[in-house]
Amino acid sequence: MWLAALSSAFAPFPSQLPSSPSLLLVAPSPSFTAATPPASSRGAPRMEDKRKDAEAALARMQQRMRSYSREARPRPLALDPRAYTLGYSAIIAVTLHDLRDNAEVQAWLSAGAAADAIPLGALSGGAVLIAFALFQLAFQLGTGSAVPFRLAVMRLGLTEPPFSSPLNDETREGSYLCSSCGAKLFDSAAKYDSGSGWPSFWRTYDGGVVYRKELLGGKMEVRCQACDGHLGHVFSDGPSIQPGEEVPPSDPGGANASFTLNDDTVHPRFCINGCALKFEEQV
Ligand SMILES: [Zn+2]
Repeated sequence: MWLAALSSAFAPFPSQLPSSPSLLLVAPSPSFTAATPPASSRGAPRMEDKRKDAEAALARMQQRMRSYSREARPRPLALDPRAYTLGYSAIIAVTLHDLRDNAEVQAWLSAGAAADAIPLGALSGGAVLIAFALFQLAFQLGTGSAVPFRLAVMRLGLTEPPFSSPLNDETREGSYLCSSCGAKLFDSAAKYDSGSGWPSFWRTYDGGVVYRKELLGGKMEVRCQACDGHLGHVFSDGPSIQPGEEVPPSDPGGANASFTLNDDTVHPRFCINGCALKFEEQV
């Protein structure tokens, strides 16, 4: 099966080559070959060289076209949804297997799984993992409503899978509101494609967010100031801020910033979960 897929992926190239006028310019025409003088002629080596040059140019262009067509995949970083399904199904299976082998969990289940006797110590790690796996899986499969995802992201601080939010590709002019409380957090003027798979902005709309340094990993978490919902993180690898481009005073790099991301040049990249945002088109 995969062999067939493989061979079709590497099918002879010329059949897939789009007809291009530029290619015709460098392709040696039949009349050109026919007009090549006999080998005894003094000009023959030069003509032969030219013909070889033309053929080499054609080969190079075909090679380039081939690599372009390989590069033209829709999203090189996007994971196949089936990979998510498989990966998270495996996580769920392994975690359930571990829990089933856990003596504390066994005792609790055989005692009727009373709520007041939940063996939290034995459950917590596996339960969180299962919850996360189910969350990711359901998100990828597109099942359920957006509400559980929003809660998982905004209240538990989980991260949606990359390239999963339609807001990632949103390019219309408008505002990005907190999907929980409706506060205006970002606007389309500050949105850019960071290639990360999450909606990215180089500044907030009006500094309506708060920052918290995470204990694990030291990332700077971004929360909605109005409702304290988790939005995402801010990193220091954003685009250069051009002269004349203002950032709100409380943003990293602003006059009243509570912290800096980088001592010399601050280029914030607000990496925000799409399900924590609600887009409102400007009309
Ligand atoms: Zn909010």
